[in-house]
Amino acid sequence: MEKVDIKSFNLEQLTEYVKNLGLKAFNAKQIYIWLHQKNVTSFDDMTNISKQARELLSEKCTITKLEIAQKQVSVDGTIKYLYRLPDGNCIETVLMRYEHGNSICVSSQVGCRMGCKFCASTQGGKIRDLATSEILSQLYTTEQDTGDRVSNIVLMGIGEPLDNFDNVIRFIKIITSPDGKNISQRNISLSTCGVVPKIYELAKLKLGITLSISLHATTNEARKRTMPITNAYSLEELMKACREYTKQTGRRISFEYAMIKGENDTQEDAIRLSKLLSGFINHVNLIPINPVDGSPFSQSDARIIKEFQNKLAKLNVNATIRRRLGQDISAACGQLRNEHR
Ligand code: SAH
Repeated sequence: MEKVDIKSFNLEQLTEYVKNLGLKAFNAKQIYIWLHQKNVTSFDDMTNISKQARELLSEKCTITKLEIAQKQVSVDGTIKYLYRLPDGNCIETVLMRYEHGNSICVSSQVGCRMGCKFCASTQGGKIRDLATSEILSQLYTTEQDTGDRVSNIVLMGIGEPLDNFDNVIRFIKIITSPDGKNISQRNISLSTCGVVPKIYELAKLKLGITLSISLHATTNEARKRTMPITNAYSLEELMKACREYTKQTGRRISFEYAMIKGENDTQEDAIRLSKLLSGFINHVNLIPINPVDGSPFSQSDARIIKEFQNKLAKLNVNATIRRRLGQDISAACGQLRNEHR
């Protein structure tokens, strides 16, 4: 019989499960703390649980563990991990060090089916969703490997988080729970290419997280060329969903704009971008695109990016050019996994 993935349960589910096994409800909280606060990967280490209960648990359940398949350390302190999942598939996780603390970028799927033309993660399509435990373990294993605490989480690694909605939401709930890592929802960002119905669904949950939208174009025509999701949901529908999200949650949205040479970097684009963003707190991150093997796109010249930023400033849109960490290690997300594949 397949073993139960115990790390994917929230406290409520774990309590239910543990009671069904004939154990006490309070055991659930003890186990939860071992798993989610103390990063324990063996039932034997759960020393306040009876030996008998531990034996029963190891017979029935498995504790998801990740193996470090590869690790690259940048001169700026950024660490990129290629983690091997229990089924042999690999994903990437990046630890970034800032003055305000450590931030981790986690993957939500093995591969991705969104098909953005400039993105390495989507090249082999989607293999499968990650289990909640596999998203959590990226953080736990990284903390254990470095001995450092992580205070910020960005769901911007491989995969489309809103395409693995339930597991991603459970991940957020567990990681922010007082008996888990107790990370503040304010310190979590979720990035999406714009899966419109799921943005409405997310809005209803009224989480305190930051939603980040990968915009990357200012007309439907141009966006369809680089981001196939636009065939399903137009820019107008996307911006409407964003307005609803802000209204429901009271949270500001962060917009990402990858600068692609000759594709989306004209002064007219800057004007259209300012119009798209009107009504929002006008702030956008300009990201010089990372070159990806097998992709025809390259980044806009530094001068063009600066002019784009200046134009936006004149239109009262505050834009920052993304500081790039880990330049010397495998550039864009998904690259390391592709090399491995
Ligand atoms: N699927 C989600 C999150 C993963 S991608 C999303 O689309 O938002 C995280 C961010 O990296 C997105 O903004 C994505 O568009 C961007 N990105 C993908 N490939 C890139 C590349 N080659 N250079 C720069 N940014 C890239």
